[in-house]
Amino acid sequence: MKIAIIGAGIVGLAAARELSKYDVDIHIFEKNEDVGMGTSKANTGIIHAGFDDPPETIRAKFCQRGNELWHRWAQELSIPVSWKGEIIVARDYDGLKKIEELKNRGEKNKVPSLEIWGRKKLLKKEPKLSSEVQGALFAPTGGVMESFFAPVALYENLVDNGVIFHFNSEVKGLDEKGDKIEVDTGKKEKFDLVINAAGLYADKIARFMGYDFEIFPKKGEYFLFPKITLQLNYIIFPTPLNGTKGVVIENTPSGTLMIGPNAQEIEDKEDKSTTEEGLNFVYENAKKLVPSLPPRSKSLRQFAGLRAETNDRDFIITLDGNFWNLAGMRSPGLTAAPAIAEFIAKEARERYSLKRRENYVARRSTYPRGGKIVCDCEGVTELEVREAVRRGAITVEAVKRRTMATMGSCQGAFCTPKIMKIISEERGIPYEKVELKKGAWIVHSKIR
Ligand SMILES: Cc1cc2nc3c(=O)[nH]c(=O)nc-3n(C[C@H](O)[C@H](O)[C@H](O)COP(=O)(O)OP(=O)(O)OC[C@H]3O[C@@H](n4cnc5c(N)ncnc54)[C@H](O)[C@@H]3O)c2cc1C
Repeated sequence: MKIAIIGAGIVGLAAARELSKYDVDIHIFEKNEDVGMGTSKANTGIIHAGFDDPPETIRAKFCQRGNELWHRWAQELSIPVSWKGEIIVARDYDGLKKIEELKNRGEKNKVPSLEIWGRKKLLKKEPKLSSEVQGALFAPTGGVMESFFAPVALYENLVDNGVIFHFNSEVKGLDEKGDKIEVDTGKKEKFDLVINAAGLYADKIARFMGYDFEIFPKKGEYFLFPKITLQLNYIIFPTPLNGTKGVVIENTPSGTLMIGPNAQEIEDKEDKSTTEEGLNFVYENAKKLVPSLPPRSKSLRQFAGLRAETNDRDFIITLDGNFWNLAGMRSPGLTAAPAIAEFIAKEARERYSLKRRENYVARRSTYPRGGKIVCDCEGVTELEVREAVRRGAITVEAVKRRTMATMGSCQGAFCTPKIMKIISEERGIPYEKVELKKGAWIVHSKIR
């Protein structure tokens, strides 16, 4: 049986991982040159506990189970996750009522060990909070990862499990041909089952097969601060506002401090610019909860990600015939991805009588360390960079997403040339042909 997955974001890759346990040929079509270049690259990276969404939503159905699965997946795939737990902090009486509501909702969603903390306990547990806080909901199963690691880890595991990747392959059409679907990327190939996991463009893909839902981009902006600027004991949320989870303050597993996002409806699905208004909103709101935030001028960088929003604000999961949609994956899509994958693999197994493969590889090996230090800020070694390139990183940014090189205080000012040299050697291409990302040249003329 041949399965095509459109989109190498976290949802498509997770689906491929569960399906690769069976005796099927899986092909992933991705319009970019690497995995995880869409929404899965720029988000808050939280593995939510699962108390946010009303029990009747599809999001709630998959969030809590996704959280459970990430505890295992992160180990098998060697993805660092900081399982600190989430606190949702109330600043007033309404906030206190809200956290009670969230606790009840979480219990209906089967989220374990939720606790309400009073003001005194909260300030003892998280002394960096404003003295004006009144209490919090504590969800110990919440965690945070560097979100860009997960697609890469899945990719490497999928390659070991025989999944075939077609990069730079934009799907431009789908056509029913008897009991198969022809996927058109310029080349045409027929598949028994096509899974649409195209993120912001899942509406466009679905339209080829007669569906008419729409995906709207909603922008979220962030600040990233260097390690050790501020260390927190928990992932800190305000109480939800206007249907969003609000501005989060968190340390990622590597120790950087991240604050964001806001939620801004926009029209352009490619507009990842940051704005003065958006960043002001993020900084001011974060400061209300943690007054000792470092000044904005200390920020390493600012960035934005785009949510795939739908009219009814829920995931769109349809498994009709041999064309399946995994669309509208707004938050908590990262968290839910393994659970959605588990669900669709079970459906595929039952509908197509799939047999288990014997040689399925669950674990991904980590990168060897050794040789010269290439990135001083992050302590990344030459062997790690070489291994990243050998496993498929073809640009400087692809090396960054695999090793953290260039992510530190110098933001690549010192290590970029060293990384370029290694890419050039490993790939056997001239130094000046090494790109930052596809189409973005670093060196414009030959170095003498
Ligand atoms: C600001 C923000 C914060 C968030 N925070 C969290 C969080 O803390 N926790 C959480 O659980 N979730 C969070 N999310 C949600 C999470 O990031 C998404 O649910 C998830 O990344 C969606 O993954 P995806 O695979 O559906 O989409 P994507 O990652 O966008 O992948 C889709 C892929 O399809 C490719 N593609 C598109 N069209 C085509 C085509 N025609 N042919 C071939 N390829 C195509 C794209 O290039 C892309 O690589 C957040 C989202 C945002 C924006």
